[in-house]
Amino acid sequence: MSTTRELRVAIIGAGMSGILAAIKLREAGIDNIVVYEKADRIGGTWRENTYPGLTCDVPAHSYTYSFEPYPDWSSYLAPGEEIQGYFERVVKKYGVGEVIRFSQELARCEFSEGQWHLEMKNGLKDKADFVIAATGVLHYINYPDIPGLASFRGSLMHSAKWDHSVPLEGKRIGIIGNGSTGVQIVSALAGKAKLKHFQRSAQWIMPVENNAYSDQQKQAFADDEELLKNMQNEETYVKAVMRFTDAITDAESEGIHELQEIVTANLEENVVDPKLREMLRPDYLVACKRLVYSPDYYEAIQHPDSDLVIDDIECVEPGGVRTRDGKLHELDVLVLATGYEVGPFIRPAEVIGRDGVRLNDVWASGPTAYMAISVPGFPNFAMLNGPTGPVGNFSLIDIAERQWGYIEQLIELVHSGQCREVSVTAEALDEYNEARIEAAKTTVFASGCTSWYIGADGVPITWPWSYDRFIEEMAKPQLESYELV
Ligand code: NAP
Repeated sequence: MSTTRELRVAIIGAGMSGILAAIKLREAGIDNIVVYEKADRIGGTWRENTYPGLTCDVPAHSYTYSFEPYPDWSSYLAPGEEIQGYFERVVKKYGVGEVIRFSQELARCEFSEGQWHLEMKNGLKDKADFVIAATGVLHYINYPDIPGLASFRGSLMHSAKWDHSVPLEGKRIGIIGNGSTGVQIVSALAGKAKLKHFQRSAQWIMPVENNAYSDQQKQAFADDEELLKNMQNEETYVKAVMRFTDAITDAESEGIHELQEIVTANLEENVVDPKLREMLRPDYLVACKRLVYSPDYYEAIQHPDSDLVIDDIECVEPGGVRTRDGKLHELDVLVLATGYEVGPFIRPAEVIGRDGVRLNDVWASGPTAYMAISVPGFPNFAMLNGPTGPVGNFSLIDIAERQWGYIEQLIELVHSGQCREVSVTAEALDEYNEARIEAAKTTVFASGCTSWYIGADGVPITWPWSYDRFIEEMAKPQLESYELV
């Protein structure tokens, strides 16, 4: 006969998904929880990023927890600091601040004698029955390997470490990188400074309007619960997401064709100079790289004080960036919008599972996890937004909530006393990986471009199937894939 077992759960990371886990565990009656956060504030990516123009390209009303809609978004796409404010309010409202231990960076966790033994960098030790890794996907900065970078005499910063003491107005600013971040920075600074945007490969730009909400609209959302819920699940957006997520599974799909027409028309209709237009035209399919949404990038790059540089960067010198054509682009500020390392997830913390198996060894040829959640040999351990999960142009909050629905069923197996340890079998992960790699071949991510979606083995690292399939898989763990001890 099974009995309820007292569980202690440790959550690593107090970003969007760690906060979600803490709220949901309490709701499920599991109160013995702790969240270890390496920084001194919650927020994850929204705490780290404060660059000019930082905006979430998922509509603000859809970028909320499903159980906590928010009526006061200032605009269709919310600025980063409003999103940070949203998470801070949620933490307060749900009272989870009291279980967060700040300035505690996980150094090591090891599963032995049926429990996880955790050790923080500062030596603090703890034990937990379950560990939830909510450490985010893009966290560790990718500093480009450009010769002479350290010799730059002006101000040098990565987009995720913005130095707000550096004056920008009227300065000569170089921005390396044109992913979502670089594009947002250029759009925000155009007309305020003399910009050089260094583009290694062109990006397709999806047009989007970003209208402000009036006070009357915000009041209406606050007064009418149903209206607010409808905003959260706004039909046009939900349909667009479903269409997009289906389209990316097949590079030759009608959906990709339609998206291609939209971004091509955006380029043709909004970039006047034919030479610039060709410089901005990618030579790969739409959505192969993570699609950039922007209401104003083309306008920004056509500003008289903006300059698109497509010559390869040779090196950085004290006075600026030298390109291979021999030209020195003199700069006061150099911004690296060069993205992130994708591989770490919970690492560099050392994670040791059953019988001394090391996550570093298991992931030697790249991080992977069954259903993006479980790794064989690591019992009572689950990841939110882990490797091979859906990442893309839609809300990672929704993804995390669906993953949580799955993880809480795994926890419940232990909580209810059905087993003491639950871990995925090696066969289940092998089968999953085989099918995933096969399916990944036809996705648009594999259609011929470089991006952070591509793993070290050349295979896209993201969920290769439809969104519907993800919803289906997350509804209930297939227990035959798990070993219950
Ligand atoms: P990213 O998409 O990885 O883009 C990095 C950029 O830096 C690319 O343009 C890349 O060029 C360039 N680059 C890297 N190393 C370089 C080098 N050595 N020399 C020249 N160029 C170099 O990074 P990100 O823009 O920070 O965005 C990361 C992710 O964060 C996005 O994909 C998205 O998921 C998320 N994000 C989301 C939002 C949002 O609104 N929701 C906003 C910002 C970021 P190549 O393309 O040639 O490699």
